[in-house]
Amino acid sequence: MKYSNSKKLFDAAQKVIPGGVNSPVRAFRAVGEQPLFIDRAEGAFVWDADGNRYIDYVLSWGPLILGHANPGVVKALQAAAKRGTSYGAPTALETELAELVTEMVPSAEQVRFVNSGTEATMSVLRLARAYTGRDKIIKLQGNYHGHADFLLVQAGSGVATLGLPDSPGVPQGATQDTLTAPFNNLEAIETLFKEHGDEIAGIILEPVAGNMGVIPPVEGYLEGLRNLCAEHGALLIFDEVMTGFRVALGGAQEYYGVMPDLTALGKVIGGGLPVGAYAGRREIMQTVAPAGPMYQAGTLSGNPLAMTAGIETLRALLEPGIFDELVEETTRLCEGIGAAAETANVPVFQTQVGTMFCTYFTDQPVTDWDSAAKSDTKKYARFFQAMLERGVYLAPSQFEAGFFSTAHTPEIVVVTIQAAQTAFKELAK
Ligand code: PMP
Repeated sequence: MKYSNSKKLFDAAQKVIPGGVNSPVRAFRAVGEQPLFIDRAEGAFVWDADGNRYIDYVLSWGPLILGHANPGVVKALQAAAKRGTSYGAPTALETELAELVTEMVPSAEQVRFVNSGTEATMSVLRLARAYTGRDKIIKLQGNYHGHADFLLVQAGSGVATLGLPDSPGVPQGATQDTLTAPFNNLEAIETLFKEHGDEIAGIILEPVAGNMGVIPPVEGYLEGLRNLCAEHGALLIFDEVMTGFRVALGGAQEYYGVMPDLTALGKVIGGGLPVGAYAGRREIMQTVAPAGPMYQAGTLSGNPLAMTAGIETLRALLEPGIFDELVEETTRLCEGIGAAAETANVPVFQTQVGTMFCTYFTDQPVTDWDSAAKSDTKKYARFFQAMLERGVYLAPSQFEAGFFSTAHTPEIVVVTIQAAQTAFKELAK
């Protein structure tokens, strides 16, 4: 394949944009490559600036559950744009999307829309603190909640437990109330509650971790967190920015049957336009201004184009049978990839929850950051490249989730598995 146009565009971009990209993972550094510049996309496919076509399993990092340029979404957006792109005043569209969210997400009684997942988690934690009158929060290692200062305390190292900031520019004061614990470890949470019990406003977590590959919660973990929060008067907050409308129509809370107090949403909820939201019990949500004293606002929040894309996307997902089919096809893909690896004798640990999946290059089970970090990222990079050369666009890092869409037909799945068979054979050499 030829990549010369992408290379030229990347050179030009680097002169005027730091690193040439507007979000770091797009730069392909984790797989030792240069990014592809995308020219257009339709259904399950993206075309780069050199005219190469790829089956896309990144899907804008999750939002495009109906695939690219879904005709229904595009038509609705065209009509909406003609009526004006933003008013800064309420519209019926916001209520319509909020109604859909409250119907679909079990714990959501009221919803506030924002413009990104980062805004959603930032705001939901302000709400948790305002409601409980407590400052400390618990965050789990390897969970990502966007780039707000106090959540940029990453995983994986001993210093993480001290709440040390993960990026220069984040003042230590901003993270001093962020406690961290390993994912899937209830004892660690019990210990934090023993030490800081009545200071903890809540626990925020990705109920299925999707920012260190894809790691499901172990049995009883979410229930255990639910009980501990209830016992200590803390709130349980699910960050379902990625899992919402993806692991099940009602997100991980529906899939696992555990009700959080508050939920952060993003990605699919905006159908490919910038939308985030936070939602929860009415009684807690009434703390948000102007109903209550907790301030949170946005010039473009509830934007009519963004609401329109969200409404069209969620309505399409609610069509009978669609979601089950989506999950079945995702399972077929994952089984195919797993079988291809086994045939080629390449040890992998394949995970899948609903329409999210990951292939870890390790023969050990992956349950938390430490075990995820043991996977062979160099092998992943080679797999990524081999797949790309065969026209399959996977996440450019071992620690990102793969995503499936309704545009990925059984034929596309077969082509992907065939590509994986050859890629694994190459890897085994
Ligand atoms: N929470 C989770 C679970 C995410 O996966 C992400 C982004 N990948 C965010 C929050 C932040 O969302 P955004 O990039 O829209 O700010």
